Amino acid sequence: MADYVLPDLPYDYSALEPHYSGQVVELHHDRHHAAYVAGANAALGQLAEAREKGDLAGLVGLEKTLAFNLSGHVLHSIFWTNLSPDGGGHPEGELAAAVEEHFGSFEALQAQLGQATVGVQGSGWGVLAYEPLGRRLIVEQVYDHQGNLGNGSVPLLVFDAWEHAYYLQYKNVRADFVSALWHLVNWPDVARRFEAARALTLAP
Ligand code: MN
Repeated sequence: MADYVLPDLPYDYSALEPHYSGQVVELHHDRHHAAYVAGANAALGQLAEAREKGDLAGLVGLEKTLAFNLSGHVLHSIFWTNLSPDGGGHPEGELAAAVEEHFGSFEALQAQLGQATVGVQGSGWGVLAYEPLGRRLIVEQVYDHQGNLGNGSVPLLVFDAWEHAYYLQYKNVRADFVSALWHLVNWPDVARRFEAARALTLAP
C-alpha cells in the first residue's frame, strides 16, 4: 500500500506575497505539513506491526496519533489549494447561492468563519464544510486537526489558526492573518470541492 506523500505546492513559495510571506509558506509546507505526512505514515506502520504481533495494547495512543497526523495532512493539502495568487473576491454561481441560503449573505459567512478561526483556543482551524446528511453548508471550529468535528462533513475551505501558520509574519495578531487569507481564497477550488461533496450522501 502506498504511503502518504507530501503534495507539491501549486505555486512558488513567494507567490502569495505580500499577504502570505514566502518564508512562512516554505516552512509551513516543507516542515510542518511534511511532519504530518511522516507522522501518518509512521502511525500506520506501527499499527500494522501491532496487528502482525497480535499486540494491540498500544492501540489507543496509535489511533489518536493517526487521527492527528492524518487530519493534519488532509487539512494542509486542502489549505494549499484553497489559496491562489489570483484569489480573493467572492464565490459565484451555485456556491454563492448556497452561501446565501445557509448563512444569509457572503458577509455573514465571512464574519462567522473569520471568528471561528480567530477564536480558536490554542491550535486549530476554521472550516467551511458541506454536511451531507442535511445537505447544508456549515462552519466548524476544529481543535488541533480533528476535534470538534461533525462526522461526515466535508471540508471545502480551511483556515489554519495554528501559530506556525502566521506567527513569523503576523506575530500575535491572528485576525490580521485571517484578513489576509480572504485576499487569497481560490473560489473556483472551493466551488469544485462543493460540487464533488454534493455527490456524497449519508442518508439511507
Ligand atoms: Mn499548519
